[in-house]
Amino acid sequence: MTTPGFGAFSSAVARAMAEVRRQHCQPPTYRPTETQRGTIRCTRCGGNLTYSASAIDGRTTGRCSSAGCLKWSD
Ligand SMILES: [Zn+2]
Repeated sequence: MTTPGFGAFSSAVARAMAEVRRQHCQPPTYRPTETQRGTIRCTRCGGNLTYSASAIDGRTTGRCSSAGCLKWSD
C-alpha cells in the first residue's frame, strides 16, 4: 500500500483491492492462473478503475480514470 492518508480515501482503496482479490486471487494460490487486467467500478467516484492482478506473485495494481482518484500498487 503506497497510498498516503487514512479515512474514506484509503478505505475506498482497500475496498477496490478486495474486489480485485475476490475476483482473481482466491485460495489456495491467491493469484490468478494468468495475469488479469480489467476494469471495475471505482469504489470512490463510481468511474472506471483499471486493475491488474499478477499470475506470478498475486500482486494487484489499480488506477481510477479520474484524476487524483484511487491508485495503488502492492
Ligand atoms: Zn475514482
